[in-house]
Amino acid sequence: MLGQVIDLIEKHNRFAITSHIRPDGDSLGSSLALCWILRCLNKEAEVIMCDSVPHSYSRLPGANDVRVVKDIDRDYDAVFVIECSDVTRPGLPSLKDQFVVNIDHHSTTALFGDLNWIDSTAAAVGEMIYNLAKAIGAKITPEIASCVYAALLTDTGSFHFSNTTERTFKIASDLVKYGAQPAKLSQAIFYNYPYAKIMLVGAVLSTLQRDESGRIAWITMTKEAQEQSGATEDDSDGIITYPLTVGDVEAVAFFRELPNSTYRTSLRSKNRVNVARVAEHFGGGGHANAAGFTIQADFEELSRDVIERLKEAVANAPAVNGREIKPR
Ligand code: 5GP
Ligand code: MN
Repeated sequence: MLGQVIDLIEKHNRFAITSHIRPDGDSLGSSLALCWILRCLNKEAEVIMCDSVPHSYSRLPGANDVRVVKDIDRDYDAVFVIECSDVTRPGLPSLKDQFVVNIDHHSTTALFGDLNWIDSTAAAVGEMIYNLAKAIGAKITPEIASCVYAALLTDTGSFHFSNTTERTFKIASDLVKYGAQPAKLSQAIFYNYPYAKIMLVGAVLSTLQRDESGRIAWITMTKEAQEQSGATEDDSDGIITYPLTVGDVEAVAFFRELPNSTYRTSLRSKNRVNVARVAEHFGGGGHANAAGFTIQADFEELSRDVIERLKEAVANAPAVNGREIKPR
């Protein structure tokens, strides 16, 4: 499939790259890196998104050139769609009429593209974009290296998650050689928060609850908490990590209240607890350890259902032997 993607790039000239609503580090880093690669190959390319670049990623090379659009408004030979579960996720209605190249590392992705390049072994789509750059013979510039590094850094939770492999570190090492600056990128992404975000962290963490086993925890962001802290919805990203830092906690839900009794729900887990299955039940998707969904529901019922399903997911997870970390 990579061969067909390379063929398409070599035979055509005008490309757009897009990704899902509320882009994250992998979707943005990978999109920007692909844009830089295409431009290095003397192609016309631009990144278009329905949402603007979140503050945390505003310092990535090329972030200022991302064009925020409501729909496809120019002619392209093909549109690359990065890490989207279906053709509606980018929020661009006429995308369905374009020649679409679907590039993703989620195993739950629908094969909605005219070309579908899916690699669920990749820690981030960034790994796939790096492989593409190598395979097509593009020179890896510091811009490309920085954007791919940002994708790897964020989708592996700063190399904490189980998707982090030998290949991830090999690629990260290459990227540093090509000009990515790890400390600078970490600082731009993780040490560059608005004050309002930390106020929001305080308000949300004060809602922390856990079940009787202590293995499941949940937090809630009400509209009031968001308004009172002066934070944006993006500022709530990352808060879900805190409950997971409790030693006994194996699964976490984060309910974010949106208008019209709608709740954007994020799920995270440790070890072999599969929360993607839980998210799929509520119409969403994601990875085994990080998934989510958005639903209109009564909050009491929703939270009860989600917690019940998380309990099942924890109970059904294969046991992790002992507390000692055994080398593989
Ligand atoms: P987050 O909790 O950071 O929003 O999302 C975590 C993971 O779940 C990401 O891999 C993301 O793509 C996936 N995810 C979150 N919301 C949805 C959704 O509504 N639909 C699908 N298919 N995946 C989602
Ligand atoms: Mn990703």
